[in-house]
Amino acid sequence: MNEAPNAENPVLTGFSRDELSSLLAPLLPPYKARQVFAWIARGAGSFEEMSSLGKRERQELTRRFSLRCTRETARLADRDGTVKLRLALRDGAEIEAVLLSGGPGRGTACLSTQAGCPLGCVFCKTGALGFLRNLGAAEMVEQLLRLREAGEGREPDRIVIMGMGEPLLNLEELRRALAVIMDGEGLGISRRRITVSTSGLVRGIRELADRGPLPRLALSLTSAREELRKGLMPGAEPLAQVKEALARYQEQSGQRLTLEAVLLGGINTGAEEAAAFGRFARGLDTVVNLIPWNPVEGLSFRGRALREPSAGEIQSFVRLLEGEGLKVTRRFRRGRGVGGACGQLGSLP
Ligand code: SAH
Ligand code: SF4
Repeated sequence: MNEAPNAENPVLTGFSRDELSSLLAPLLPPYKARQVFAWIARGAGSFEEMSSLGKRERQELTRRFSLRCTRETARLADRDGTVKLRLALRDGAEIEAVLLSGGPGRGTACLSTQAGCPLGCVFCKTGALGFLRNLGAAEMVEQLLRLREAGEGREPDRIVIMGMGEPLLNLEELRRALAVIMDGEGLGISRRRITVSTSGLVRGIRELADRGPLPRLALSLTSAREELRKGLMPGAEPLAQVKEALARYQEQSGQRLTLEAVLLGGINTGAEEAAAFGRFARGLDTVVNLIPWNPVEGLSFRGRALREPSAGEIQSFVRLLEGEGLKVTRRFRRGRGVGGACGQLGSLP
């Protein structure tokens, strides 16, 4: 269902099982509140569908609560199977979420955590939009529910928090959303199948390391040379501190870290750059994920228009990194046809 029938009612999609149980305590015994939680995770769009509840209970819930606070305003499907959704929020803000095809019947959901982003990376469309506001947990969980509806039988079994916004600037709500997503009686997606991508906010990484949960972590390194990085990512924090925070995260989570680098033609694909990558990664267990820049019109750096890296630049950079002893993967460019690829989120074509 696409409508949000009771637009002003509290929405239930962002509450953990325990929270829901307390919230619904005046109306339902705990075991029924648990059923509501499971129904929501299964994608129920109305309380009427919740056939394990009594008629009165369903009516009362319908009167007082809502099951959606987002509305789908556009859906675009790429030939490669990628589906991009544009969702309007109750206050009119708009966000995007993307489903990438996985194996047969599977998909990876790419979720947004903010409407816009305050960090202003020069290569990113979301950054160019500026910052509107943080999303609530329900707005994050609903992206996943709506992607599943739109996926035509493809079950999202992996989550990447790589849509619009910087997740570590919205950590409390992200944590709440992950609690719902990871719950075995809810969506049941384990932390190993969830990746949070960050521009590298030291406080946030430390907090996540100390308080959990411990999803996979990806750092958008982009450049391991301080000055260039700061130029490309004005919100970037000192690399030594970022590395220290990553080491702590790795110690706590026991998982390999991903270092992401969006490759900008003529800017960050040289030998010096690769050497700096090598130095940064030393002592950490990492894999480098290269993302050839997805074109966004109008973006420039130091007075020159950004361009995609050539095939030759990519190849030579891969070799240079491997020469540094690094493991390298290259991200497949899915979703370009619908502007749903990395860094292209922000508006419909
Ligand atoms: N704010 C977080 C998560 C969202 S951005 C972060 O920066 O990590 C997710 C990824 O998309 C980042 O690695 C970012 O470097 C990359 N990205 C941004 N714009 C891009 C573009 N135009 N082409 C390719 N990748 C881009
Ligand atoms: Fe924000 Fe990430 Fe885009 Fe930078 S790359 S502007 S941190 S969304």
